[in-house]
Parts: sequence; structure tokens; C-alpha cells
Amino acid sequence: MTSPVLENDLRAAIRTIPDYPKPGIMFRDITTLLGNPRAFRRAVDELVQPWAGSKIDKVAGIEARGFIIGGAVAHQVSAGFVPIRKKGKLPHQTVSMTYLLEYGSDEMEMHVDAINKGDRVILVDDLIATGGTAEGAVKLLRQVGAEVLAACFIIDLPELRGAEKLRKLDVPVRTLIAFEGH
Ligand code: AMP
Repeated sequence: MTSPVLENDLRAAIRTIPDYPKPGIMFRDITTLLGNPRAFRRAVDELVQPWAGSKIDKVAGIEARGFIIGGAVAHQVSAGFVPIRKKGKLPHQTVSMTYLLEYGSDEMEMHVDAINKGDRVILVDDLIATGGTAEGAVKLLRQVGAEVLAACFIIDLPELRGAEKLRKLDVPVRTLIAFEGH
């Protein structure tokens, strides 16, 4: 659990854009949090607080906002960083995973040599909604032999039950604030 003060600070640093990118979606815009030095630092520190002192080999970030937060987290815990990208973006040999979106599916990729068997990995993204993206990333990481220690997100949309989905895969989930709705 995070403290109410921290939660309020982070909540206030996030901007909500109604009906973006389509009607009915409340887009949780973290660029305002990233631009706020205090909120950005607190978010990064708090995300990995339960694993402070544990050995973490790699932090994996999901394109694109997961790169920004994951990169900062990797630096913080002295781990390497692994990008998980949309299909066709990585130059070397890749492994891929199809994952479910609200409507349809997509494919994500990672370099085949980005993870060593047994690496202890923390997965990072800005937000978990249905959990389809993060579930795909967990499967991709496990496919190459990673031990997924946890998945960390600044924002949870609990109504969409993504965190539940990850916990069913035996992945501990850390989120800092929750917003109602989609
Ligand atoms: P999901 O696979 O449904 O958990 O969706 C998670 C991904 O979609 C994350 O990479 C988020 O950045 C993005 N996303 C989903 N819903 C929102 C939202 N309401 N506001 C901002 N980003 C979102």
C-alpha cells in the first residue's frame, strides 16, 4: 500500500483527457507527472520499493511509456533495461508474442538475447487496464527463461481487472494509484 499523501500527490500530477483517443475513454496522461521532478522521482522510488535490496538483473519496459519509467527504475535498482516493442521495430533476432487488445490482437517483440535464462526481471508500464499487454509481456519474458519477480504500474484501472489477470499467472503486482472507469 502507498500512503494517502503520496497517492494524492501522484493523482494530482496526472492529467485526464476525456474521450481520447475515442469517445468513452478517459485517457490518463502521465506526461504531466513526468514533467514534475518531485512526482516523477516519487513514482519511480515507490514502484520498486518492495524489491529494494533484492537482486534484480533486468527491468523490462513496454513501448512506449514503459521505456521512460522502466529506464528510470532500471537506473534506480542498478539493473539492465530490456525494451519490449511493437512488431518490426527491433533490429536483431527477436522472439514474439501475440496479445489481446480490447478489440482484436497485436504482436510484441523482444531481442532473443536480451534475457539470460534465470534472470530476475521486473516488468514496468505506466498503466494496467485489461492486462492483455502485460500478460503478453510476462509470457514473452517467461518464454526466454526469465523469472518475473513482479509487474509494476503507476496507474491501475481496477474495473478492467488487469492486475487480477497477472496475479492469476503468479506475478505479484504493484500499482500506486487507481482510477475508476476505463
Ligand atoms: P491493457 O492491455 O488493456 O492493460 O492496456 C494497457 C496499455 O494501454 C498500457 O500500455 C497503457 O499505456 C494503455 N492504456 C490503456 N488504457 C489507457 C487509459 N485509459 N489511459 C492511458 N493509457 C491507457
